Amino acid sequence: MPVYRDDVLGWIKAVASTISENSIYLTELDSAIGDADHGANMVRGFNAVMNKLPEVSDKDIGTIFKTVGMTLLSTVGGAGGPLYGTLFLQAGVKTAGKMELSLADWTEAVDAALSGIIMRGKAQVGDKTMVDALTPALNSLKQSVQENLPIHEALDGSAEAAKKGMEGTIPLVARKGRASYLGERSAGHQDPGATSSYLILKVAAETWKNAS
Ligand code: ADP
Ligand code: MG
Repeated sequence: MPVYRDDVLGWIKAVASTISENSIYLTELDSAIGDADHGANMVRGFNAVMNKLPEVSDKDIGTIFKTVGMTLLSTVGGAGGPLYGTLFLQAGVKTAGKMELSLADWTEAVDAALSGIIMRGKAQVGDKTMVDALTPALNSLKQSVQENLPIHEALDGSAEAAKKGMEGTIPLVARKGRASYLGERSAGHQDPGATSSYLILKVAAETWKNAS
């Protein structure tokens, strides 16, 4: 079965609680190489999303994603807010009018979302940002589409790829965002944005595990 609109709503709610559970962790990561606000930023954004969600819960997936994106854009400051806002807005453009997503639909949405983030933030793989978690996740999804894997396997694969990408940010020297101000001293720390991106994809795999 595909991922239905209500599964998408379930994912967003699960993301909100996972972000809240990991708020201190994300803030600790950001305190090492940033300004210690990534957890609080994300919690503020997803709390606002939770308040807004009932207004659109009977709409199509594209409208839901666009609403999440607009809400994050208007409530989260710093770099993370506009970037995650862009992620959901672009995913919303790709899924406009849809009431369910196939693996190919989800892959296209993630592709558009990542392109939006790259266009906005100009980060490349290896710059120690969320792009380092999202890029391998997208590549894994594309591979799964080619191999015709069931969605739940593809989602597990993308979460695993994001995890490796996140861990791969530890030795990197940051070239984008606040962490880049530290130069060489940013090495040895895991990127907070790559970590929240991994959590978001991990929750998709967990929430949609019955999708095939
Ligand atoms: P701020 O850096 O403004 O305090 P956050 O702490 O919420 O914002 O988010 C920091 C995260 O944003 C970083 O860990 C990194 O993953 C991501 N980030 C910062 N700049 C960029 C960029 N130009 N492109 C992609 N991601 C970025
Ligand atoms: Mg910060």
